[in-house]
Amino acid sequence: MAIKKVTVAGSGVLGSQIAFQSAFKGFDVTVYDISQEAVDKAEERIKGLRHAYRHDIAATDEEFNAGISRLKFTDDLAAAVKDADLVIEAIPENPDIKHEFYQKLSKLAPSNAIFTSNSSTLVPSMFAADTGRPKQFLNMHFSNQVWLNNTAEIMGSPETDPAIYQEIVQYARDIGMVPIQLKKEQPGYILNSLLMPLNAAAGALWLKGIADPKMIDRTWMAATGAPWGPFGILDAVGIRTAYNITLAASKKDPAVMPLADAFKKMLDEGKLGVESGEGFYKY
Ligand code: NAD
Repeated sequence: MAIKKVTVAGSGVLGSQIAFQSAFKGFDVTVYDISQEAVDKAEERIKGLRHAYRHDIAATDEEFNAGISRLKFTDDLAAAVKDADLVIEAIPENPDIKHEFYQKLSKLAPSNAIFTSNSSTLVPSMFAADTGRPKQFLNMHFSNQVWLNNTAEIMGSPETDPAIYQEIVQYARDIGMVPIQLKKEQPGYILNSLLMPLNAAAGALWLKGIADPKMIDRTWMAATGAPWGPFGILDAVGIRTAYNITLAASKKDPAVMPLADAFKKMLDEGKLGVESGEGFYKY
């Protein structure tokens, strides 16, 4: 089946980016969210991407406007998915909300539609039964600023049909992503599976007083040739997100709690990372 009509469900930070990138690359995209207010916000958010597309990837106004013209917005799920070939889910990272969404969606979307989830931490087998089409369901995980950080990590459940998986690999390519094909389910995919232990180790070196953040970053950069060290990466990700992830990890591993406390202290001091002009570094 050739994918032509795409619906993006959930039009927050990532959903709005995925929707516009798909439209920018020529697909007809319907953007769905739960209320008219959320939909209006998405429309504003997407229009606000113009500068980034011009500045970061030299998109012309004509190209940007053509992308905008291929978007439709609605808060009616049945209308949003009635003739979708592909539904990309980017709703909140909350299993209850996702279970309920897929149960509803399974009854409204055409039986041959493919569903993908942008979930950062939840594996597809958790929702496969809810979708009513486990063979046509898998994760396609984007990174923030999809037009720039253009990886799409693609991960099926044991039930995903390999041919459907390859259709999604092709879709990722068609919208300008580099498809990263995971062979099995893994919470955190490849990137976050690598990044989280690196950040935790850097945090432990800092909090034990072995070295300060700048020294730790400089060691990593000089020794590996990487452009950023772990604290520079944390500033870019944002200390709020780093705190939330570390706090969740500390429930399983109490040894991580001091790092969560250190991030909390930074938040209380207004040091949110790049977005506030200061984190471990000043911007
Ligand atoms: P967000 O909070 O910015 O947006 C979520 C959107 O979903 C909101 O517009 C909200 O109104 C809508 N929503 C809530 N309940 C809904 C429902 N039942 N049906 C449809 N829409 C609903 O969240 P986000 O950061 O865009 O994250 C969305 C998903 O993408 C999560 O699974 C997250 O793990 C993943 N993700 C986020 C990032 C990131 O950097 N923010 C990166 C990769 C993946």
